[in-house]
Amino acid sequence: MLQEISLEGKTALITGGGTGIGFAIAEEMADAGASVIIVGRREEKLKEAAEKIGEKCSWYVFDVTKTEEYEDFFRKLEKKAPVDILVNNAGINIKKDYFDFTAEEFDKIMETQAKAPFMLSQTAAKYMKERKSGCILLISSLASILGMHEIQAYTVAKSGMKGLARSLARDLGPYGIRVNSLNPGFVYTDMLKNTNLKTPGRLEEIQNRTPMRGFAKEKDLGMAAAFLASDAAGFITGIDLVVDGGISSSF
Ligand code: NDP
Repeated sequence: MLQEISLEGKTALITGGGTGIGFAIAEEMADAGASVIIVGRREEKLKEAAEKIGEKCSWYVFDVTKTEEYEDFFRKLEKKAPVDILVNNAGINIKKDYFDFTAEEFDKIMETQAKAPFMLSQTAAKYMKERKSGCILLISSLASILGMHEIQAYTVAKSGMKGLARSLARDLGPYGIRVNSLNPGFVYTDMLKNTNLKTPGRLEEIQNRTPMRGFAKEKDLGMAAAFLASDAAGFITGIDLVVDGGISSSF
């Protein structure tokens, strides 16, 4: 019989957990019984989010592009409680004409969504490996499935995250560590408002093209993440779970 999804006794670290999808993931995981740690660059967003989630939530101002700080940060966290679940959710996007993209902008996207998930997963996995258990999630994007207008660098990074999940699933599985990517459809967050929806009429177009109509809700992603992190998904690794109301699979 299918058990209720429970993350009781687990600790989850969610990057970019102060807003949007990351916040919803933290909220759902805390509801399922996990202690959650959210990190991001803006203190006020983290404080606000932690207050909403309640006592199961702690927060740290932490910039994922500062890879040199990972070891110390994890040592500090692991002294308090083992980090059982890592959610690589922190993300940025830059939307502009391909011919105007600069090398610096490309690097900025890659630092946050390629180098950071690669290195942070490595740091977390060193501890998980010792315990012979752990779960790593990478938040990918429909941009890795559909060709999207003027977000090429983001597409490179998100496709990479999907590939990284598969590759790590292969190499970390023998240590009891599962690695999956979670692929959100369009979710009405700050990121979407500041990029895709800047084009007039785009909001309605996306909603109408989605078989389930409308946008995915943050909570839809939160629930899917809690499922993937739970024992209910205990033999699921190396997949890209698409939560998009059917938009990527319809014509
Ligand atoms: P938000 O802009 O609300 O979330 C992005 C989060 O990442 C923020 O909390 C931000 O916090 C954090 N962040 C960005 N850079 C860093 C950094 N260097 N260090 C630490 N934290 C950082 O948008 P979403 O919730 O929509 O995005 C969440 C994830 O979902 C992203 O990876 C995005 O690419 C992905 N996604 C979103 C979709 C959508 O339609 N909304 C669709 C597909 C994928 P702060 O600025 O305080 O650091």
